[in-house]
Amino acid sequence: MHTDSYRHRGLRRTLVEELRRKGIRNERVLAAIGTIPRHLFFDPAFQAHAYQDKAFPIGEGQTISQPYTVAYQTELLNLHPQDRVLEIGTGSGYQCCVLLELTPHVCSIEYQPVLFERTRKRMAALHRSAHLFCGDGSLGLPQHAPFDKILVTAGSPTIPRPLLRQLRVGGALVIPVGDAHTQRMMRVVRESEEEFSRQVFEEFRFVPLLGQAGWNE
Ligand code: SAM
Repeated sequence: MHTDSYRHRGLRRTLVEELRRKGIRNERVLAAIGTIPRHLFFDPAFQAHAYQDKAFPIGEGQTISQPYTVAYQTELLNLHPQDRVLEIGTGSGYQCCVLLELTPHVCSIEYQPVLFERTRKRMAALHRSAHLFCGDGSLGLPQHAPFDKILVTAGSPTIPRPLLRQLRVGGALVIPVGDAHTQRMMRVVRESEEEFSRQVFEEFRFVPLLGQAGWNE
């Protein structure tokens, strides 16, 4: 089924209440999760799983992130409607659509050409207009920098320097950093041209950020 329905909206309301119980507080983020039909980012055979608070395979060895993780990262970004955002790891496009609920200025980059192509078509069919790119997002998107916010949705061994350079002063990078098994969520704020501050949050488990400034293959 390719449409939204009363039943799906009910499942989303239940999911939003679950995320609230788990500690998500930002009402705009919760409203975005309540709006985006997550089942449309799944293969039709697996749509029954869409409103569980779980990650799920999307092909090419990749996953659509758990809704709690999407909400958690989006909350840490603290988006304003005029913010220009870069997402690294478009995957299914779900997180990208959540971001679009909060600002119209979203660029997203995906490493895997097969996922990029599938998601480009899906976003067009859903009439969601982000600027989508295929390439190594560990290097950011220098031709479109600076960004107010950068979100990395794959686990990185370190904080990639190219991403720090592409942040506007006052802007923030949200990124899971750690080894191949677990990562700590970090928020890095560019305080001035040369100064950055860093906060460390909960532990998560992401697929690896590949590429030159990630886990180099
Ligand atoms: N945000 C996605 C969603 O809502 O479906 C989920 C992202 S999935 C957990 C991580 C994604 O990062 C995968 O699609 C993977 O191919 C992508 N990725 C890994 N390394 C990358 C890189 N260097 N540049 C861009 N994307 C990358």
